[in-house]
Amino acid sequence: MSFKSLGLSDALLKAVSEKGYTTPSPIQEKAIPEVLKGRDVLASAQTGTGKTAGFTLPMLHILSQKPTQGKPKIKALVLTPTRELAAQIYDNIREYSKYIDVRSTVIFGGVNQNPQVRTIRQGVDILVATPGRLLDLENQGLLSLSNIEFLVLDEADRMLDMGFIHDIKKVLKMIPVKRQNLLFSATFNKDIKKFASSILTNPVLVEATPENTTAEKVDQKTYRVDKSRKTEMLTKFIKEGNWDQVLVFTRTKHGANRLSQKLEKAGISSAAIHGNKTQNARVKALAGFKSGKVRVLVATDIAARGLDIPLLPYVINYELPNVPEDYVHRIGRTGRAGASGQAISLVGVDEVDYVRGIEKLLGEKLHSEVLEGFQPTDTIEQLKAQAAENKAKHQQGRRKTRAKREGGNGSQEGREKRNNRNRNRR
Ligand code: AMP
Repeated sequence: MSFKSLGLSDALLKAVSEKGYTTPSPIQEKAIPEVLKGRDVLASAQTGTGKTAGFTLPMLHILSQKPTQGKPKIKALVLTPTRELAAQIYDNIREYSKYIDVRSTVIFGGVNQNPQVRTIRQGVDILVATPGRLLDLENQGLLSLSNIEFLVLDEADRMLDMGFIHDIKKVLKMIPVKRQNLLFSATFNKDIKKFASSILTNPVLVEATPENTTAEKVDQKTYRVDKSRKTEMLTKFIKEGNWDQVLVFTRTKHGANRLSQKLEKAGISSAAIHGNKTQNARVKALAGFKSGKVRVLVATDIAARGLDIPLLPYVINYELPNVPEDYVHRIGRTGRAGASGQAISLVGVDEVDYVRGIEKLLGEKLHSEVLEGFQPTDTIEQLKAQAAENKAKHQQGRRKTRAKREGGNGSQEGREKRNNRNRNRR
């Protein structure tokens, strides 16, 4: 099938061809004609399937067919969970709309709102936004959502995971009831199905990959290993395999920072990307990774969500996620666009239950290995004792710091301050 046969205008086809796309991806083949017909669409698609063009191209086609008189009003709203995803979608829209008269912009939090407000004032047809900043500007009366004809919810499952449900409900009250809705999600559990049915009207179902299964081209392996030896194992894989573009997932922001520092010490260029990093730091880390300057990008689930990293050969789960769906998201970043990829999970004795959860979701067993020289010896009891010891040390450290701040442990003044604080707490 060709893009031409999907019913898109010549101006859009020209932009698509300049992007180097020759044939539509499966999700584009299925979704574009339905959106053009005016149908609501419920799509099951991960990043890497071409879903962005799947909803933006037909939307741009429809909007360009009815040019506005005067200053454009916001007619399409694309909601996404993260700033990175918002910026990426906006970049795509800008490229696809090169030869048509449709204006767009993007807004997200963490940066100065004034430039965003100025662009909106000049008039835009499409607004790509994260929920928080959108509500913020609407509440300040700086934008109006009363002319919305299209609502797109991208990565809807992640928006729910991140607790955006209340924000989205507020947005729904601000936009006209009569509109076309498109909802994209990588996974479909009970919550997301319920959420989708509350928003969509008689939707067409479109699937890029069968529900809750992973891309066939991803080779998935798990290695049982002691917690304290994971960095050593990862370093060995990277160095001996000459891996030069590796995305590594950790469960926490601190974990991401720590691992990135350890890799740097081992002579492997690395950057961490997580929610505590500024927007600039995240953009810089991602750019370094894409250009090859940064060999390993260590990310938390939320930060990595929706990042467009084409043809990624290796995804490593340094720690497994406790939500099985996150595993599907993570490994959805490899084996993309026809290339094969490897997803490797380092599994500590305390993560075996997570593997079971993932296998249940996938409906298949994951291949498990022990690497020579890395025979695991940890037991759950040992890890629990270690965790309790660490916690006690941490608390002791905090007590000492507090005592020091309050004028020395045991001083009259310190004791008084502590007593006062305890009284106030009660
Ligand atoms: P997405 O799933 O929307 O994040 O897209 C993933 C990547 O595939 C992006 O880099 C797109 O530019 C690219 N892409 C989208 N559609 C096509 C297509 N039909 N042919 C080739 N590449 C595409």
